[in-house]
Amino acid sequence: MKQRVALVTGGCGGIGTAIVKKLARLGHRVATNYRDEERARAWLERMHAEGIEATLVPGDVADPQASEAMVREIERRLGPVEILINNAGITRDTTFHRMTYLQWTEVVNTNLNACFNVTRPVIEGMRERRWGRIVQISSINGQKGQYGQANYAAAKAGMHGFTISLAQENARLGITVNTVSPGYVATDMVMAVPEEVRAKIVAQIPMGRLGEPDEIAHAVAFFVGEEAGWITGANLAINGGHYMGW
Ligand code: NDP
Repeated sequence: MKQRVALVTGGCGGIGTAIVKKLARLGHRVATNYRDEERARAWLERMHAEGIEATLVPGDVADPQASEAMVREIERRLGPVEILINNAGITRDTTFHRMTYLQWTEVVNTNLNACFNVTRPVIEGMRERRWGRIVQISSINGQKGQYGQANYAAAKAGMHGFTISLAQENARLGITVNTVSPGYVATDMVMAVPEEVRAKIVAQIPMGRLGEPDEIAHAVAFFVGEEAGWITGANLAINGGHYMGW
């Protein structure tokens, strides 16, 4: 299998770490961003202890200039980005009638505008080289909506429109663009939800459990493989049967 340069945004988080490890174990050279240097150093030590090599660069995906600088630094250190996983994300939950403009914009900037900020500096190179793999990590709540998450659901739903438009524009140039939509996965993001609320969520999942980060990473690895070259504009829902729509 050809070794590629992969950028996983938010790679130090729960799902991101699983994606970084999966792609590194497949032989790819993987980079990710950090915002807090001390935490990033601790994360890298954990990776090394598991035999995983990863390149860490500073970067705030909600900021266009910082995102471009992050991509250029990765290119300088590893070469052109051939695989991009737009994974970084946040929640700022509250019902819409209480939502502040800041809660709205932080979530839209980090989940949706980041897709522009990070993809824009890599897409031209992918087009020139006529090969690329782009995967957005959306969410079940971008598909079905969620009480208290108008900001998050809007941003995650927007990622699908982005995916299918970018897929059309770049299909003839060997670039695939797809979306993975996880249901509730046992990461810090979900474990921060009060236990009784989590129990109610699990009760709605036909599989009767939360997902594991590795189960999301497995799907990402599938989409970025050489063999997946005819799969573009697709959305893969991975949610234990929680939502079976589009
Ligand atoms: P985590 O909170 O564990 O990880 C999120 C990662 O994104 C962290 O590394 C965080 O870095 C990074 N990040 C956040 N904001 C920025 C920013 N502005 N610039 C750069 N990096 C940033 O979340 P998960 O691993 O659970 O989530 C990963 C993705 O999966 C998200 O897009 C999320 O919406 C999506 N998802 C998660 C689900 C779940 O159940 N966990 C379900 C459905 C979708 P830092 O440490 O610096 O904050």
